[in-house]
Amino acid sequence: MLLKSWIASANSAETEFPLNNLPYGVFSVGDGDLRCGVAIGDRILDVTGLEESGTLRSDPDVDVLDVPFWNDFMEMGPKVWTEYRAKLQALLAVGAEEQTQETCTFYSVPMSEATLHMPFRVAEYTDFYAGRNHAFNVGTMFRGPENALPPNWLHIPIGYNGRASSVTVSGTDVRRPWGQLKAPDQEMPVFGPCKRFDIELEMGAIVGQPSDAPVTVQEADDMIFGYVLLNDWSARDIQAWEYQPLGPFQAKATATSISPWIVTKAALEPFRCSTPEREKELLPYLSEPGPMLYDIPLSVSIKTEKAEVPEVLSRTNYREMYYSAAQQLAHHTTAGSPMNVGDLLGSGTISGATKTERGSLLELSWGGKEPIELASGETRSFIEDGDMLTLSGAAQGDGYRVGFGDCTGRVIPALDDPYARGK
Ligand code: MN
Repeated sequence: MLLKSWIASANSAETEFPLNNLPYGVFSVGDGDLRCGVAIGDRILDVTGLEESGTLRSDPDVDVLDVPFWNDFMEMGPKVWTEYRAKLQALLAVGAEEQTQETCTFYSVPMSEATLHMPFRVAEYTDFYAGRNHAFNVGTMFRGPENALPPNWLHIPIGYNGRASSVTVSGTDVRRPWGQLKAPDQEMPVFGPCKRFDIELEMGAIVGQPSDAPVTVQEADDMIFGYVLLNDWSARDIQAWEYQPLGPFQAKATATSISPWIVTKAALEPFRCSTPEREKELLPYLSEPGPMLYDIPLSVSIKTEKAEVPEVLSRTNYREMYYSAAQQLAHHTTAGSPMNVGDLLGSGTISGATKTERGSLLELSWGGKEPIELASGETRSFIEDGDMLTLSGAAQGDGYRVGFGDCTGRVIPALDDPYARGK
């Protein structure tokens, strides 16, 4: 049920940011400072300002939101997360005192006037490969349908350690990378601009509490602070040549875009659902004590330079994942590596069973064999320069939605010569 706010725009059935959501981000206006903010309807509540003024504090003595990231707040732990969210909801709910409404209005800005920044400092970034349909589709293209799923796949949430330094916020342009490429019919590799640049539609889980020993799936779920949309930009031609036997490396080191708002686990609670039925029984340390996935409809759209409006390429749902973020995080802790506040875990590409539910162009165009026909009359197998790719997602409640804000990135041309430093 929609929780009503005295901010009218937050009560629309279409807004991604009703009182039920209250996602955390970082914003600035004009040349102003970066500040922590909470999205409510079409406005951003300046919670750095509310903390300074004493209206809303997570700690009575120490300023926590005087820095442009939410890591320090996450570090305070689940009890504080819950208390703070309850206080925020009380400030913004219908029936709040006149004086409270005046203060909150003073400490808020129209979202349309704000620039959004990275909401947290990424400590480390890991990307998984936990979507059954995606793994099957890609495996079929790379190795044939008989060997599509690697033998470990139904037993381990497999992944690779990515680069925290590559993670950028929605709206940041992505430059087409150069890399080492070799087509199967070529004898020698070449160094050149990527010709098969792609997206991966994923969700990112943000670790909000540290670990120093292996954790259970339940403990892992308790450590997760919230979720973002995540686009794992992928250079397929670089990947096809480099990936064996150690997996992706430079193919995934260009950029990873995330949506600007961290939607908390608390806001997603009504949308919990179970992972699909197991095809092979999991080892006990990976079994889930309850539903740890979420029902979140997701979509991918493209806007080419010629097109007037964006066009939806694919629609799928986060509930398609075979492994939950909690299972991934639990597995991540098994060998002894500590997890830290601000660690980001990519889910793996989320594809549904049918062609219009695929979460990458590699799958949508079936490796370039079946180019996608766009409404503008153009076709696409992979991304071309100037294309703007957008991930969207919002859980659908009864009369309200809980959204993330779009995760957008435009691909700009490769450099003429990446080694032309100072020439
Ligand atoms: Mn990925």
